[in-house]
Amino acid sequence: MSPEARAYRRAQRARYPRNWKQVSRSVIARAGYRCEACGVEQGKPNPVSGSRVILGAAHLDHHPENVSPSNLRSLCQRCHLRYDHPHHLTQIRANRLARLAASSLGGLLALMLGKAPSSGR
Ligand SMILES: [Zn+2]
Repeated sequence: MSPEARAYRRAQRARYPRNWKQVSRSVIARAGYRCEACGVEQGKPNPVSGSRVILGAAHLDHHPENVSPSNLRSLCQRCHLRYDHPHHLTQIRANRLARLAASSLGGLLALMLGKAPSSGR
């Protein structure tokens, strides 16, 4: 994993409240230890993938800070990944664009100031 990816993960983890484990467990209990999207049961083999079902609490708005009960759903790994996938793609694209804009801006400023872009020395 790149240092940037590691820093991003650390920053994401810091967005969760201190009692997240407890909140997550209560969401799963509220759902009767089932996935609220496909109905698979905690600890049982997933009928599609065959792997053991581990439920997690998903944020419908993708904001870890928002632990309002209406924003949280008990989801299996499969449904959680599916739910988050479009959001992850958007995030990756936005990060790429931001990096591109930053490097283009750096090059443009160097041109305007009559300096060659830094060669990283
Ligand atoms: Zn599911």
